[in-house]
Amino acid sequence: MITHKHDIIIVGAGIAGLAAAFEAAQAGHDVAVISKVFPTRSHSIAAQGGTAAALGNMEPDSWEWHFYDTVKGSDFLGDQDAQALFCQEAIDTAYFLEHIGVPFSRTEDGRILQRCFGGHYSKFGQGPPVRRACLAADRIGQVMLHTLFGQCLRYKVNFYNEFIVTHLLIHDEGCCGVMAWELVGGETHIFHARLTLLATGGYARLFKVSTNSAINTGDGMGMVLRAGLPLEDMEFVQFHPTGLYPWGFLISEGVRGEGGYLINADGERFMKRYAPAKMELAPRDVVCRAIQSEIKAGRGIEGKPCVHLDITHLSEKTIKERLPQIREMAIKFAGIDPKKRPIPVAPTAHYSMGGIPVNVDCEVLADGKKTVMPGLFAAGECACVSIHGANRLGTNSTMECAVFGRRAGKHMAKLAKRTSFLPLPERQIKAGCEEIKALLNHPARTSVAEIRESLQESMTRNCGILREKRQLEQQLDFLRTLKRAYQKIGLKGLPSSYNLALQEAIELKHMLNLGEAIVRGALARTESRGAHCRTDFPKRDDKNWLKHTLIFMKEREYRLDYKPVIITKFQPEERRF
Ligand SMILES: Cc1cc2nc3c(=O)[nH]c(=O)nc-3n(C[C@H](O)[C@H](O)[C@H](O)COP(=O)(O)OP(=O)(O)OC[C@H]3O[C@@H](n4cnc5c(N)ncnc54)[C@H](O)[C@@H]3O)c2cc1C
Repeated sequence: MITHKHDIIIVGAGIAGLAAAFEAAQAGHDVAVISKVFPTRSHSIAAQGGTAAALGNMEPDSWEWHFYDTVKGSDFLGDQDAQALFCQEAIDTAYFLEHIGVPFSRTEDGRILQRCFGGHYSKFGQGPPVRRACLAADRIGQVMLHTLFGQCLRYKVNFYNEFIVTHLLIHDEGCCGVMAWELVGGETHIFHARLTLLATGGYARLFKVSTNSAINTGDGMGMVLRAGLPLEDMEFVQFHPTGLYPWGFLISEGVRGEGGYLINADGERFMKRYAPAKMELAPRDVVCRAIQSEIKAGRGIEGKPCVHLDITHLSEKTIKERLPQIREMAIKFAGIDPKKRPIPVAPTAHYSMGGIPVNVDCEVLADGKKTVMPGLFAAGECACVSIHGANRLGTNSTMECAVFGRRAGKHMAKLAKRTSFLPLPERQIKAGCEEIKALLNHPARTSVAEIRESLQESMTRNCGILREKRQLEQQLDFLRTLKRAYQKIGLKGLPSSYNLALQEAIELKHMLNLGEAIVRGALARTESRGAHCRTDFPKRDDKNWLKHTLIFMKEREYRLDYKPVIITKFQPEERRF
């Protein structure tokens, strides 16, 4: 076993982790970033459409309009103190990104180019869509991630790539680091830190059809749950309306932002029946349910569960300059040139609104409410501040990672000076090592891949876009069966170096626990709000459910708790688009 010591340990090298690492290292700290994959392979690389900031480069815009849209988009479940702060800081953060070298697309006069995205409008939702998404063609994630990575190298951040973090090291006084398994060397490493940040991304790989990378298995949230700490609003899983059918790869909302139409089998622009004013640029939960309803009513294309996304009316120049990756994906995978024929699309699992409860300085909340867990922080998609509430607006996530990643980095830099190294919890380390040893030494009686596929398939069927009591209960039973099957996993006889089966087994454990947290939250919430749509409770119920879900796990038993939503300015109202 090898032990490393750093002031600040950051788990995750996506936009959130690297933004934090940059700030803490720039302030002079010894920072280490641990990642399952090489940093520029983190899922942030896949972000396409843009990053939100009310710069007003194309037409007048204001952070207050962005704030209103984010509140309404969240179906009033977001915390408005965090949402207001986010929309204000997004503006400076966009210029920060420009100054560190992010190569944004430009207007004729050299300013950052912006485009429309669903849910972003002018005049407190009363005006037309506003161009608020700062773009770099259709590869915003790539340019943000590469630029931040370059800056981290410049400030001498230490990188531990291809290390999978397996456990948090926590005792009564706080968090003092993490345990990890090095994939190449095939052994356990201890990372001892004054402060630890989780920036491990989302869990949309729990579903069969997903836009997410294979690594998005929710490990950080899984570790938090296992450590006895709560998760917040896990039942809110975002399905993106337009995944390339049948694979589910993302066709960015930027395509509709540039003027794309959604068409059913009758050739009708059906959004006029669901969101007459905002049409294809209504928020994702609304567009998703519209597509699902068209398919259910038998108006899918050629009887298949998909509709058409049509951009044949856009110019060849716009498609090639603004949407080059989308064009390439449609040609390579579906054999369709989008200038000539519409693209077949269907909803696909995309984003986790819920996560590890934190305050606006990214400190993890041990009770989910006010009490801070010393030494432990979370930022990015794995955290829940909560700015997205029940439904995230497109382009708000990469900006959330940049805004709150930087806040975490700056806050940790301040605290690190006066935080000492806590002693390592020897008993926990021993138990962690034994858990890995048991997996490696048991003979195989069930396959990891089989359990994972059953989990993904059943979550999609029973806890997908449309949910109801009976199916959710069935899913809870089925999860118990899958957890029993997990006990029979064994990896005996496999080499310890580059043992990807071990990585998959560790990930699967988290996925099963998170699956149960999602289903339990969804079963308890007897209303429909944002992305959580109960066909047996179709209305939003502010009287009983204007509150955040907290879920705890102790020795495999789950406990639910709730906390109020912070409302500072905009009172809940009916959502019409
Ligand atoms: C296809 C796609 C397109 C998108 N487009 C947009 C867009 O246009 N605009 C927008 O705002 N948002 C978009 N999003 C959402 C956005 O990209 C993500 O929410 C955001 O980038 C997440 O960043 P992150 O830093 O939180 O985590 P990630 O980028 O997911 O990184 C997670 C990191 O954690 C590490 N990690 C995880 N578990 C472990 C472990 N156990 N041990 C060690 N390391 C671990 C991984 O190696 C990785 O480095 C898109 C998402 C997808 C999937």
